[in-house]
Amino acid sequence: MKTPEDFKQQVKLHNITFWKHHECGICNTPIGYVFDNDQVYFSSACGCTSISSPDQLRSWEEIADRYNSIQENSKVNENLKLEEKEFWKF
Ligand SMILES: [Zn+2]
Repeated sequence: MKTPEDFKQQVKLHNITFWKHHECGICNTPIGYVFDNDQVYFSSACGCTSISSPDQLRSWEEIADRYNSIQENSKVNENLKLEEKEFWKF
């Protein structure tokens, strides 16, 4: 299990600025988390949907929860788990 602090650290260490959550179904723009100055935002930048809004402040707990739930979900493809692991350089 990774902790919120682990992610904070990796973002700083490797200058990670964005973690993809999914791609917009209409224009394929990556939608996801933006890291800026110790803060986490959720960016829905492409503007295809009517709910497109300014970046929302999120928490490091949410990042850790999402990562851990990917790694622990037996239905998630092993390649995706590996990809995420490599992305975060754990
Ligand atoms: Zn879009």
